[in-house]
Amino acid sequence: MNKDKMAYIRSLMVRKMEDLQKSADYTILKLKINNDKYADPFDQAAVESGKDIELNCLDKEWHLLLDIKETIMRIDHGLFGICDHCGRPISQKRLIAAPMSKLCIMCQEEIESRHNKQKHRRQYAGRISYSHA
Ligand SMILES: [Zn+2]
Repeated sequence: MNKDKMAYIRSLMVRKMEDLQKSADYTILKLKINNDKYADPFDQAAVESGKDIELNCLDKEWHLLLDIKETIMRIDHGLFGICDHCGRPISQKRLIAAPMSKLCIMCQEEIESRHNKQKHRRQYAGRISYSHA
């Protein structure tokens, strides 16, 4: 990938990171404001479940933020576009579609199929343990 394209992806990542940080700050602020206690347990429950959803979002945003920061670091250290697993270059098409990819398509597929096999095995094991009932 040429330097211009990489610089472009880096600027996209920086912008996304700033947006996420802003929205994460806002969520934290909202959680702090909503910290008051309600006399009615139903009201309190509604507030608590709203908080759970927001914390969940915050968690996802946090992980995305880490991925973005890592991508920027990879660009800065000349590791961008190199597969973490096999060390071969990741295709430009894949990087443009998913700049945060750390694996080439072959390694990604291999890992996914391994996960699927494990999932399948777990489901099968689940069936066995229930079939004697
Ligand atoms: Zn690979």
